[in-house]
Amino acid sequence: MRCPYCGSTNTQVKDSRPSEDHTTIRRRRVCADCGGRFTTFERVQLRELTVIKRSGRRTPFDRDKLMRSVQIALRKRPVDLERIERMVSGIVRRLENMGENDIKSETIGRLVMDALKALDDVAYVRFASVYKNFREAKDFETLLGELAASDDEETASGEASASAKD
Ligand SMILES: [Zn+2]
Repeated sequence: MRCPYCGSTNTQVKDSRPSEDHTTIRRRRVCADCGGRFTTFERVQLRELTVIKRSGRRTPFDRDKLMRSVQIALRKRPVDLERIERMVSGIVRRLENMGENDIKSETIGRLVMDALKALDDVAYVRFASVYKNFREAKDFETLLGELAASDDEETASGEASASAKD
């Protein structure tokens, strides 16, 4: 696993342990070149998914990106990270169970809306209002960028908006 700080591939696993529900393995890693420490997660993946954007462009499905967008919608809402993780895992399983490797970005948007509706009203309204304004002309990636831009504070949302521009 490449070190996220210095780019070296000379990294080692220091510690591995399963999450409470045994659906993920968490590994603490250390870089032998710069001493940087980071964590990776191992999960079951039933299917290689590809997202088809509105423009027709194809991109590998990225669970982390989905997780970030959901966290932006849920910013400052009283929802445990564990519940958010479960929600995202549920969405991913549903996508995998659709029986297709290619998934339209709007399908993902719809599943996120359904899930947020069940989880938290405020987050749902946040997500839905942006989603509805933008679904005509733009794709899901742009939506994520808009959500991030409406996030007036610090946070890691800069990453989401950066990836929306590519
Ligand atoms: Zn390093």
